[in-house]
Amino acid sequence: MTIEDIPDPEPGPTDLILRVGACGICGTDLHMSENSNPNLGWRVLPPDCVMGHEFAGEVVEVGREAQTLWHVGDRVTALPWIGCGDCPACRVGRGYRCARVISRASHALPGAYADYCRVGGGESIRLPDTVSFREGALVEPLAVGLNAVRRARLQPADRVLIVGAGPVGLTIAMWCRFFGAQHIVVSDLVQARAEMSRALGATAIVDASQGNVAEQAADAAGGPPGVVFDCVGVPGSLQLAINYSAPDGRIVVVGLCMAGDHLFPTKALVKELDISFAFVYRQEDFTTVVHLLGKSRIDAAPMISDFIEMADLPMEFEALKQPNRQIKVMLELP
Ligand SMILES: [Zn+2]
Ligand SMILES: [Zn+2]
Repeated sequence: MTIEDIPDPEPGPTDLILRVGACGICGTDLHMSENSNPNLGWRVLPPDCVMGHEFAGEVVEVGREAQTLWHVGDRVTALPWIGCGDCPACRVGRGYRCARVISRASHALPGAYADYCRVGGGESIRLPDTVSFREGALVEPLAVGLNAVRRARLQPADRVLIVGAGPVGLTIAMWCRFFGAQHIVVSDLVQARAEMSRALGATAIVDASQGNVAEQAADAAGGPPGVVFDCVGVPGSLQLAINYSAPDGRIVVVGLCMAGDHLFPTKALVKELDISFAFVYRQEDFTTVVHLLGKSRIDAAPMISDFIEMADLPMEFEALKQPNRQIKVMLELP
């Protein structure tokens, strides 16, 4: 990763140009920068492109067809894609399924590790004055968590185990608290990270480095978890989630496993588990998150573990690929 001067983005008729205020560093970017195997089902990162898809900023230019809705000075966050706006997927806020979508971190749509960034007017969400750019840059990861927790069909009495206390695990802890899960146990190999989850909603933490996660989790929650979130995504982690789950449990896989995996399906079959996979979110998830932040009904600020400036980004980005205690590192632009 290098810092270079590139031409300023120009708005299409329905686009906005933002001066970026903040952009979070996401594990997805770390994965994309390391892995160019097209067989993984994952988009390959082309050379010479700009990443960064968790951002907020101020509108500095408005495309001619977007001028009734948007104005210079508006503060917004935006979805990390621009769809056609017209197909069935776009009409329900799922532009990532649009046949004509352009996704961020491509040549067609550079990302927001930059001073300026082009966004779709139709994919932008206005931030209330009470929501800072830092918080606005958390809307995307919060929407990832919201989409994952929706798939778990939480009930108030649920015992939840969240495996992996990274940014996604922490947002999931926050939503499980928001939706009233009774026990929210967070497990991680690094206790300093798991400890951070208490501020977001964990009712207990488990030290995965000590082994016996199932036993520790059951002790903490008074029984085995009926809902397990795999927020790790390495070979073997789905099998562990299956092993940890109570019979008839629900497993939601959110961690991005960038390699082949091997598991024993019978273990899931005998328990009759529901296993689902969560990828992104709908536009309405962004709107919901922005609304809740604006009303101070959720507080995700504790998941930001560090603030950096542009000059530090290449070094910090590489450092995050090594074992570390960071949760969300936030790039802030002046
Ligand atoms: Zn992300
Ligand atoms: Zn479309």
